[in-house]
Amino acid sequence: MTIAIYPGSFDPITNGHIDILKSGAEIFEKVIIAVSYNANKQGFLPIDTRVKLIKDSVVDIKNVEVDAFEGLTVEYAKKRGASVLLRGLRTSFDFEYEMQLSQTNHALYNNIKTVFLITKPEYNFISSSCVREILINKGDIKPFVPKAVADYLITAYGI
Ligand code: ADP
Repeated sequence: MTIAIYPGSFDPITNGHIDILKSGAEIFEKVIIAVSYNANKQGFLPIDTRVKLIKDSVVDIKNVEVDAFEGLTVEYAKKRGASVLLRGLRTSFDFEYEMQLSQTNHALYNNIKTVFLITKPEYNFISSSCVREILINKGDIKPFVPKAVADYLITAYGI
């Protein structure tokens, strides 16, 4: 069974992330979407909230597990018996960064391979940072995030 880890900040998870996750779940027997965090660095949403919002957004995808981890992605992958890292690509800017990251991860652990999936055009421009910016300026985030995420954020921010 090929286990893939889909690591990221997911702060918050967006429709672009879900698109990559769904495609990954069609290819691999199991995909673990793993929220990476640093206990010394506060993100936008607390880690537990990010995990809960992802769980609520992926209930219909059977072979997906949601988890969180601290430290090196390759160490987490080893621990979980995963041989693939799943990452999404939007633009050539993503490519430069992702290529370096993939080569670094492979240098650290040569049993790991990164598989890149290209997002659908309609999700190409969506990023967690744009969603945060729209939210704090009281704009409409609904087109960009799963319903569970929109419902939570709109209530939490009193929009
Ligand atoms: P990180 O902090 O590791 O970049 P992100 O949560 O921003 O984590 O992204 C996780 C992964 O999802 C990355 O591979 C990123 O390129 C990809 N990704 C982010 N937004 C999108 C999107 N709209 N479409 C496809 N892939 C995306």
